[in-house]
Amino acid sequence: MSIVIDNERGKKVAELLYNSFTTKGIHGRTDMPEDITPNSVIRGSLDHIFFITLTVSIDYQRDAPSLWESSRKTFDDPETRYLFDPKLLYDTPFRKIGEDMQKYKLSKKPQKDANIWRTVGVTFYKKWSGDPRNFLQDCNWNSPLILRRLRDDKHIYRGRQVSDYPYLRGPKIGPLWLRMLRDNVGITQLENLENVPIPVDIHIARATLATGIVRGQFRGRLDEVFEFIRKAWFESVKGLGIKNREMMALDVDEPLWHLSKYGCTNRDKTTGYCSLFNRCEVREFCIKGKVKIENSVVELET
Ligand code: SF4
Repeated sequence: MSIVIDNERGKKVAELLYNSFTTKGIHGRTDMPEDITPNSVIRGSLDHIFFITLTVSIDYQRDAPSLWESSRKTFDDPETRYLFDPKLLYDTPFRKIGEDMQKYKLSKKPQKDANIWRTVGVTFYKKWSGDPRNFLQDCNWNSPLILRRLRDDKHIYRGRQVSDYPYLRGPKIGPLWLRMLRDNVGITQLENLENVPIPVDIHIARATLATGIVRGQFRGRLDEVFEFIRKAWFESVKGLGIKNREMMALDVDEPLWHLSKYGCTNRDKTTGYCSLFNRCEVREFCIKGKVKIENSVVELET
């Protein structure tokens, strides 16, 4: 393995992408799949918090736009609306939750997703009086502490210690939840967000590799590269400013996601040729060579 992190390049790409995303868009888009709320939901309300929190908990290995659309349909249907109410989740038999999560394909893995969904909802019901903000406050709104508590807090179930926040506790979903609480729900009290790593998924990885911010020769597991990517964005944004504050790694999450989802997915995996090159916002940084991500394995020759 020989991988380098190019922070100078990262700085320029961060600035370019952030400016594009907040003005004309990246590949013409500025919308994120989680931006549209269900019909009756008021932005910033407790309903909104549960819509975001429970949906992001099962945001793993699947297409985000279809996940969020399924979740909106589930919320908008009076028969399945209860799935977003933590007390009703607690009162409802597991089997019914599993069935109702399939009505609009909210769950992809029926047993597993229903278990994640119910456990997260019931934790907030039983431990935090049905309001995730009580948990955040108990962590002093301190973002790194929130991530640690998500990872560590447990309860006893049938004699075994079980996580309070399955999947929400993960290295991608935990940071993603905090970013959505800030950007979508509008929670302003979260502190030390600059110490939260970028939530790396396949899109963040692809965009970071395609722009050569992390580059070199590598063949191996995707999560080995994730460490380099988190480090790259922590370091690259240092010293950059936006809207009267310092830029943080979380600020480039949405721009990078857009670059990959609507751009770098068109790139030839072996040569690096991209049909969108001429209209790409960061074309001057696009790197030639192999960026192949398949079945959680990365092949990098850049
Ligand atoms: S030219 Fe294509 S592959 Fe290169 S950064 Fe832009 S969208 Fe990604």
